Amino acid sequence: MERHLKIEAALRHTAGSNDREGVMTDLYIYENWTRKRGAIHHADCSYCNSGEGVQIEDSGRNGKWHGPYSREEAFCRAATMLNIEPCKTCKPLPPT
Ligand SMILES: [Zn+2]
Repeated sequence: MERHLKIEAALRHTAGSNDREGVMTDLYIYENWTRKRGAIHHADCSYCNSGEGVQIEDSGRNGKWHGPYSREEAFCRAATMLNIEPCKTCKPLPPT
């Protein structure tokens, strides 16, 4: 039982990482066209859901998910877009 749970947790952990094994900083950018703003999220943020988003809010008409990106790439791209801020829930940190 306990073993099964561990395997499940491990699978969930790697989901969305694809070929970026070992990289803990998969970030996504959500760009909202209608509100002209967006946010940077961790892949495991409940708002991000590995780029799937929250279906109620994100029908695909209002915005677009970009990513996954490394930390450096995500913040670099966000700087070229309008009003992109780190998510207040998952709080991705800018590269040092
Ligand atoms: Zn988030």
